[in-house]
Amino acid sequence: ITLLLFTPGDLRLAENPALDAALRTGHPIVPLFIWPRRAERFERPGAARRWWLHHSLAALDAELQRRGSRLILRVAEDPAEVLIQLLETLPVAALCWNLPLLPHERRLASSIAPVLRRRSIRLIETVGRTLLDLEQLRTKSGDVYRVFTPFWKALRQQYIPPAPFLPPARIPAPSSWPDSDTLESLALLPRPDWASETIASHWLPGEAAAWSTLRTFLAYGLPHYDRARDRLDQEATSKLSPYLANGEISPHLLWRVVGEAQRAGVSSKAVEAFRRQLAWREFGYYLLYHFPETTHRPLRPEWSDFPWRTEAPELEAWQHGRTGIPVIDAAMRQLWQSGWMHNRTRLLVASLLTKNLRIHWLRGAEWFWDTLVDADLANNTLGWQWTAGCGADAAPYFRIFNPVLQSKKFDPEGRYIRRWLPELGRLPAPCIHAPWEAPSCAEMLREIGYPSPIVSLMDSREEALALYENWKASI
Ligand code: FAD
Repeated sequence: ITLLLFTPGDLRLAENPALDAALRTGHPIVPLFIWPRRAERFERPGAARRWWLHHSLAALDAELQRRGSRLILRVAEDPAEVLIQLLETLPVAALCWNLPLLPHERRLASSIAPVLRRRSIRLIETVGRTLLDLEQLRTKSGDVYRVFTPFWKALRQQYIPPAPFLPPARIPAPSSWPDSDTLESLALLPRPDWASETIASHWLPGEAAAWSTLRTFLAYGLPHYDRARDRLDQEATSKLSPYLANGEISPHLLWRVVGEAQRAGVSSKAVEAFRRQLAWREFGYYLLYHFPETTHRPLRPEWSDFPWRTEAPELEAWQHGRTGIPVIDAAMRQLWQSGWMHNRTRLLVASLLTKNLRIHWLRGAEWFWDTLVDADLANNTLGWQWTAGCGADAAPYFRIFNPVLQSKKFDPEGRYIRRWLPELGRLPAPCIHAPWEAPSCAEMLREIGYPSPIVSLMDSREEALALYENWKASI
């Protein structure tokens, strides 16, 4: 048989090169997914993504069953042990998977390597989650890229999208199946069930839903993507991130279809702007692959000594959207309610946390990890280190976003704020961005019980800059 190993970042059949490779071996295929019963932080999906994973695994199994196959599930104390046991006991000729990229996946790959050698099992690793093999891109001097623009240029030059691959109507099945645990025994759904009241009404996980989200984006979002992607009050981005994070849609496919859209008349600016974002995703994976310790440590080592606050009472107000700064609170409520947040507001809430409040970026990364349906170790690490100023090609620490100006610019009528903070619905447009500055709103704010800002944007900015100057002088 051929074992086809799925991971939480791979859950699709179409455009899945690992499946393509497994079919080419000519053996019956056993699709397998192993879930660790326990894991270190960031080594398995957080709460919101676990809800997604449950539904995604059910959808994947249904797609396999339609093709005469099925998904074998295993819950394991130690995934390596279970995989080794299967390799030792089943008549396995080949093991196929998309190249392991995350630190714990690479550890799993090394622990099974001796068994594969000893039993002469063929290992077929395909490039399925990223556009390129992450070993491949190097600077002229052979170093790893740390700056995005040259990385993007090299990617543009070297990337050739693979041919499309659609799964066949039948996937060859073995004469008998190994035992499988039930999906329920993975215990992925939250208890108590907070998801049905929140994220479940916003999303439909699974490969079919990924394709329909893509079709909507191609028709309504992509044509304006370059001009509107930062607007908080418009639905101009693809919202494909949870499908990409869970591997329900392929980055190769996205690259290709936007090229087809360009040939059908969409502007090259829109297409380039979208591909550039796919390249940021690729850069995130690339950095994490080459610097696996950055999930917990700053990429630039001198930042290890930066005096971030690790415990702070303001953290809870930030998490629950009670900072008194409307665009920040709207964004944090959007996250809590829907499991997703616009990229522009991810930047704003991260800047407020790490700069105005000087709280360690890891506290923010951890909250995102548990609440985002698109929580992705590579992109989350990149986003937090970039905003905090301690990552590769990061925004310099002294660049501190002003959430009020950003809110006026990207949500001029306050529509985004009103949607996620309905209690501010009656505030007139001019003062919705900074209601504490408008004496005429004071009475209304008191009635609603909306808090005053937990931090002065002006003073905290000055303090952060002074702290930064002192710290820089000391290193
Ligand atoms: P689109 O604008 O439609 O972009 C298409 C795809 O490109 C996205 O789905 C995503 O895969 C990729 N992409 C877009 N912007 C970025 C970016 N800035 N960096 C890397 N990839 C990008 N993205 C995640 O997928 N998971 C995370 O856990 C995550 N955490 C973040 C944390 C912070 C602090 C910040 C600032 C950004 C984070 N991002 C994360 C990146 C970005 O905000 C989201 O990918 C984007 O908002 C998803 O919306 P979309 O699918 O509509 O994006």
